[in-house]
Amino acid sequence: MAARIQTIRGFRDILPEEAHKWWYVESTAREILGLFGFKEVRLPILEQTALFARSIGETTDIVEKEMYSFVDKGGDSLSLRPEATAGMVRMFIQHSLYHQPLTAKLFTIGPMFRRERPQKGRYRQFYQIDVEMFGFAHALADAELIHMLDTLLKRLKIPVYELHLNSLGCRKCREPFKEALKTFLKDKHEQLCPDCRRRRTLNPLRVFDCKKEQCKAVLKDAPLITDYLCEECKAHFLQLKGYLEELKISYVLNPYLVRGLDYYTRTIFEVIIPGIGAQSAVAGGGRYDNLVEMLGGRPTPATGFAIGMDRLLPCVPEPEEKQRPLFLALLGEEAVKVGLRWAKVLRANGIWTEIDYRLGSLKSQLNRANHLKALLALIIGEDEIKKDRAILRNMDTKEQIEVPLNPEEGLAIVKQQLGRK
Ligand code: ATP
Ligand code: MG
Repeated sequence: MAARIQTIRGFRDILPEEAHKWWYVESTAREILGLFGFKEVRLPILEQTALFARSIGETTDIVEKEMYSFVDKGGDSLSLRPEATAGMVRMFIQHSLYHQPLTAKLFTIGPMFRRERPQKGRYRQFYQIDVEMFGFAHALADAELIHMLDTLLKRLKIPVYELHLNSLGCRKCREPFKEALKTFLKDKHEQLCPDCRRRRTLNPLRVFDCKKEQCKAVLKDAPLITDYLCEECKAHFLQLKGYLEELKISYVLNPYLVRGLDYYTRTIFEVIIPGIGAQSAVAGGGRYDNLVEMLGGRPTPATGFAIGMDRLLPCVPEPEEKQRPLFLALLGEEAVKVGLRWAKVLRANGIWTEIDYRLGSLKSQLNRANHLKALLALIIGEDEIKKDRAILRNMDTKEQIEVPLNPEEGLAIVKQQLGRK
């Protein structure tokens, strides 16, 4: 036998039973985001490597070691997108979407790629629902985003989750904080992991994002950004907290939260689902008021978040099956032809209709109907054709009634039995 080819490490297939849930989560998200006035966009998966290096930051894990980058045949350095915000900002600038209220609130759903160590809740291809809002500096915008995320999680019936909240301040207050942090970390060098030893001087805030216990222990007494916020940033944060209280959205103030990307300013947040393992962050985001300008656009405040679908999905209770199929049990060539006419009419009326193409005995066809959880089976055989009547069987109660063989005449009864108008 020829050698089998399998998915590559960290990549996976999503089979129908699970895909159904993905569809449910995505369509629920589209509905809720629509209620808040967000519009969907679709972006390329491949972008110039420079876009990510400049936005996410050269000294972040993502850019340093996790991107799928290659030089294409034309000599350009390209990367599979590791996240969506950079592409959203590029699109916003490229199409000058500055003063169009309808296009300043955007979302996209799709795969992201990071060459991380695969484990539970961590894949090399994973999916995000990514939401971005451009042009609004007010804390009300942050509150609306969090409100929307909370609404979606509630609608999906996620039983328990925590919203962790912090402010990273602006350029003005971040600099003195960075200096204080550098000074603090200076004599802790030996206690830090090798990565953090490098981060200590290059990008000290990143040390807060380290998941190693030894580094977390060092940070217990570290200076905290919230003590360094300037008056404006403090007021902005206070206002946001006030709005969340108004909305009765509970949050956990977490001054250690920094997130894995460099572009954030002021508000940042993460949604944690306790008890799902080490990878418990199912969504994260925040404000990034400097990024549009950093990528060559006009200064534009912005804020957004991304939901990690791979982690969220196992926590979403199975949605209720909305429709059960109608099964056509067909015996003999004439019956097949009548059955095809039925199938056409039924589907044109939005009724999920199944046929067993093996066309076995009545017993095996009804077995198949049970297997498919059909509510009704319409049975057509030679006798039925002679009598010009088909048999409609309720698969739950096993009751049978006769209906006209002609679908145009019989449809009304079938619809009635399905509880439809
Ligand atoms: P992590 O906590 O895993 O390091 P992150 O801070 O790198 O996450 P973001 O870049 O902010 O995450 O992405 C937002 C969300 O996307 C995360 O909260 C998580 O749910 C999901 N996510 C990120 N990386 C992965 C991955 N490799 N596999 C599955 N989901 C991921
Ligand atoms: Mg990460």
